[in-house]
Amino acid sequence: MIKTVDEYHKKLNLLKKYDESYYDLSNPKVSDSKYDALKKELLEFEEKNNKYKFVGSKVGYTPSKKFSKVKHLEKMLSLDNAFDFSDVKNFLKKIKNYLNFDIQKEITLNAEPKIDGISASLIYKNKSLIQGLSRGDGDFGEDITENLLTIKEIPKIIDNQDLPEYFEVRGEVYIGKKDFQKIKENFANPRNAAAGSLRQKDSNNTAKIPLKFFAYGTTQVNQKNFTNQSEFLNYLNQCGFKTNELSKTINNIEELEIYYANLEKKRSSLDYDIDGIVYKVNNFELQHRLGNLSNSPRWAIAHKFSSEKAFSVINDIEIQVGRTGALTPVAKIDPVTVGGVVVSNATLHNEDEIARKDIRIGDTVLIQRAGDVIPQVVSVDLSKRSKTSKAYIFPKKCPCGNNTIKDYNQITKKIDAVRRCPDIGYECQYMAREKLKHFVSKDALNIDGLGKKVIDDFWNLGFVKLPSDIFNLDYNKIKNLEGWGELSSSNLKQAIENSKKITLEKFIFSIGIRHIGQENAKIIASYFKSIKNFQKLFNNSQLNKELKSVREIDGIGETQINALNEFFSNPKNEKVIKLLVQELAIKDFEIITNGIFANKTLMFTGGFERMSRSEAKSLAESQGGKVLGGVSKKLNYLVVGSSKPTKSKMEKAVELDVEIISEEKWYKLLNR
Ligand code: NAD
Repeated sequence: MIKTVDEYHKKLNLLKKYDESYYDLSNPKVSDSKYDALKKELLEFEEKNNKYKFVGSKVGYTPSKKFSKVKHLEKMLSLDNAFDFSDVKNFLKKIKNYLNFDIQKEITLNAEPKIDGISASLIYKNKSLIQGLSRGDGDFGEDITENLLTIKEIPKIIDNQDLPEYFEVRGEVYIGKKDFQKIKENFANPRNAAAGSLRQKDSNNTAKIPLKFFAYGTTQVNQKNFTNQSEFLNYLNQCGFKTNELSKTINNIEELEIYYANLEKKRSSLDYDIDGIVYKVNNFELQHRLGNLSNSPRWAIAHKFSSEKAFSVINDIEIQVGRTGALTPVAKIDPVTVGGVVVSNATLHNEDEIARKDIRIGDTVLIQRAGDVIPQVVSVDLSKRSKTSKAYIFPKKCPCGNNTIKDYNQITKKIDAVRRCPDIGYECQYMAREKLKHFVSKDALNIDGLGKKVIDDFWNLGFVKLPSDIFNLDYNKIKNLEGWGELSSSNLKQAIENSKKITLEKFIFSIGIRHIGQENAKIIASYFKSIKNFQKLFNNSQLNKELKSVREIDGIGETQINALNEFFSNPKNEKVIKLLVQELAIKDFEIITNGIFANKTLMFTGGFERMSRSEAKSLAESQGGKVLGGVSKKLNYLVVGSSKPTKSKMEKAVELDVEIISEEKWYKLLNR
């Protein structure tokens, strides 16, 4: 909840930034649910403090200077939102009160899918399309006539005898899901693709994208000859416009609930994105009586679908093998937009989870995507299951051909739910490829330009099979690959060169020994001190003795010892590590006693503007600091980045008297 005016202004500025990215640049910075939550907070503050009215009265965003600005004949408003049925009931109650109707009286609504695109107004004079505008800020739109003319589904001439001299049609420009698949690299979702393509400076660029148009409205002036919305939609059809065939008149709340449930399930099978349903009072006379609020009509509401959940169909279940051999089943689903992102894969976690939920190929399932978490299958809609469907049988073999195993978990005293490939060297090609991705990742060698996708490509081309291959790439071949060139390949060469100087603890972490994370890698490095000592583990006669000593170190447990034992007993690993060591300059472990954070503990929260979390962490450690994972009495400093720090961590730090370092102070302390 916003408590102070200062906080209101700060959050308002943030909202304005998000608006600019979304409406003007067609490139949202945050998910819709995050944006909606911020907007709700601001609206709540404005409701309590009448003086502040910005969010409650704004529509969209100021027209861009790229286009000439044109005043709408009648305002183009936004819609009020309902997030559940009680909001919808409340909307109906308010309408009845306003119209002084008996509360029991039913009001006929026209329910229409809410197309997730970008609205446009088309003005026809003497049957010809003369102007097309975007919504802009509701009062003024952008003149995007040339761009709208490129859309095939928009009639350029309306051949209808009774058409008034001036006729305005409002509707939604969108891009079909299949068409979006062809251009998806450049946009987060179809809505942004449609907005970005429609608002191009050069209409030739708009013409390249197959945009479509659903008509759904007009101005009050043009409504005069019609009694209601459903009749008007039929008229639009006669005029050659496409209207949505799923629109339906609804007579009571029971019908409304059924319509909502049916459409929510149908959502993923439609070839266009919808983010809810618009209910409109069907009768035009009642619409006129109800009129408008400052930024939305009183006679309509948008009932949003949960932005984090959506139904889809499982077309296949693919088994993915992780770097530690875990077999993860992934559902390949019909693409559906969840939380502003197009999802076509959802994790099924493991064999037990599939059996517990009885998930099958062909099932209609509810997909959830919360925050940055991998989308997952929540439940199966059994009513949609075909009679011939068969239970899914989880493969007992890794795709590499190995028989899989299930480990006994020492801590839970249970057999693991996860099925694994037992390979411990680099024999399983699936694991080997994932190990390479780990090796180059941010917390490991941190090689810029060598992300997961590039590793996949290089792997398929046979350029890399073992970590040491990364240091022997043929850049002449790379620069000629599609998507590469002289500059990108020389940048990659440089990034790989830079990554060669590495600390012992990073090296130990990078080679991806199971159960050896960053913390354990550091502890092990502090014991062995140099790569030479560390490699003694490959010596069979010394392995047991060394592991016995490692076991004594605080923080290393039986699980880690077993993992080290397994790794170093394998001759293939010895070969791989030896080849790698030849390529790298591995620095001995150093204890820093004179840095500004020597003997101090730090923790980070929030994102930094000028560095990644990994870099901040390395800097803290290079100054002798120890980075902790939680706020406790042991913590000396909580370093707070300006982007989305966790409130509870900051509150706990204040409570425990832990010193808080702002992002600005952090740069000062490090002379950056
Ligand atoms: P809106 O998109 O929620 O609702 C109004 C619009 O619905 C209309 O302008 C029209 O274009 C459209 N619409 C689709 N089908 C319709 C139909 N059948 N009848 C009438 N209208 C129909 O409102 P808004 O003010 O444009 O934008 C708010 C939405 O944009 C929210 O969902 C919000 O999350 C999102 N947004 C996100 C960000 C971000 O950064 N992620 C920023 C700004 C806005």
